[in-house]
Amino acid sequence: MNFNLTSTPEEEKFRQEVSDFLDKELTDEIRRQYAIDKGLGPEGRAFALKLGAKGWLGLGWPKEYGGSDGSIIHDFILVQEFARHEVHIPNEVARFMSGPTILHHGSEEMKREFLPRIARGEIEFGLGYTEPPAGSDLLAMQMVAVEKEDCYLITGQKTFNTESHYADYHWLAAKTDLNAPKHESISLFVVDQRSPGITITPIWTLGGERTNEVFYDDVRVPKNRLVGEKNRGFYYMIEALNYERLMMSQTERLVPILNRIIEYTRQTRRNGKLMTEDPLVRNKLAQMAIEIEVSKCLEYRAFAMLFEGRSPDYESGISKLFISELYQRLAYTGMEILGFFGRLDEDSKWVPLRGEISRLCRMSVVYTIGGGTSEIIRNLTATRGLGLPRN
Ligand SMILES: Cc1cc2nc3c(=O)[nH]c(=O)nc-3n(C[C@H](O)[C@H](O)[C@H](O)COP(=O)(O)OP(=O)(O)OC[C@H]3O[C@@H](n4cnc5c(N)ncnc54)[C@H](O)[C@@H]3O)c2cc1C
Repeated sequence: MNFNLTSTPEEEKFRQEVSDFLDKELTDEIRRQYAIDKGLGPEGRAFALKLGAKGWLGLGWPKEYGGSDGSIIHDFILVQEFARHEVHIPNEVARFMSGPTILHHGSEEMKREFLPRIARGEIEFGLGYTEPPAGSDLLAMQMVAVEKEDCYLITGQKTFNTESHYADYHWLAAKTDLNAPKHESISLFVVDQRSPGITITPIWTLGGERTNEVFYDDVRVPKNRLVGEKNRGFYYMIEALNYERLMMSQTERLVPILNRIIEYTRQTRRNGKLMTEDPLVRNKLAQMAIEIEVSKCLEYRAFAMLFEGRSPDYESGISKLFISELYQRLAYTGMEILGFFGRLDEDSKWVPLRGEISRLCRMSVVYTIGGGTSEIIRNLTATRGLGLPRN
């Protein structure tokens, strides 16, 4: 089945243009740099500039801020085509979180300073929310920004800040009022990631991805780098989170993986028979195909709300929840089908599918953690979606 939320000839032309561009420009090295956050090399940066020159990194933004005045539908098409080609859109933090927040709440000066550079693909942002005591409960954060005459002085520790080692700017949340109610005590800042007083140390994850601890020691941040109103940061974060969750829900990414597993079963014999003849294998593959269609429905429902001018709330959470858990089910199903050889490293000559499935098993662990854990999203669905009491 092929769902298409877009139908006008102009939209189809745009889809084709993006697809042709990716077919021509994508190299294995660019894919590698965007797939695992070890940092962007010159190839990844050059690719971002090309996308910027096409006007695709600020699609929904007004022209005066470097955007293309495109619609949310164009953004959706772009995300879908990138997913179909199995590559990530550069600078996801800026594109889906910082950029829209600056556009809606930032000062005129901040809009003019940052939006055109994001849209041109010149700068990268990293996300600075989580702290050792504050992950799911962001209100528990302890990093403090003290207002001085000409700047904020920021001190504290962030953890799991994935892009910090190569990003130019840190999209940072910190406490600006220690006495106010928690949800009115946080502000957002754009911090030059190389400012004096910042120390970044790596955390290597199971999936081979690098993320970081980021320490601030009396870091001076100019006052014009405060985003929007002081102490309104938590509301801005929540607003952007639903959009982020929706943009993380790219079911299209699962399709080529399932297709490669299916192709493997077509070509592999076990116990003298092709694997495709084994009813258990067929059953598992069909189950995955069905769940991918379910995931598309959930994803498209949330997008349809956006197209209609409504703001998806728990609907984008449900979509993120389903697809992140489906990633893991697909990885484990793939591993069962591949058998023991599936566990070998990608450089082993005996490993099937170039080690993709064992890599997916390890990498997909984080999908049910980042952007809100599955438990948190189930809680939100119960309260905001079903109207159940909080306790
Ligand atoms: C590889 C990786 C990359 C990341 N990248 C970034 C990044 O770039 N920037 C950033 O800011 N953050 C990032 N994060 C952080 C991520 O958003 C948090 O890990 C996540 O929000 C969970 O927070 P926590 O790790 O503190 O776990 P906790 O919040 O301590 O949760 C621990 C467990 O308790 C459960 N739990 C917590 N509260 C409840 C509740 N109320 N009800 C039911 N269950 C609950 C959780 O579901 C989880 O299973 C990253 C994390 C990882 C692992």
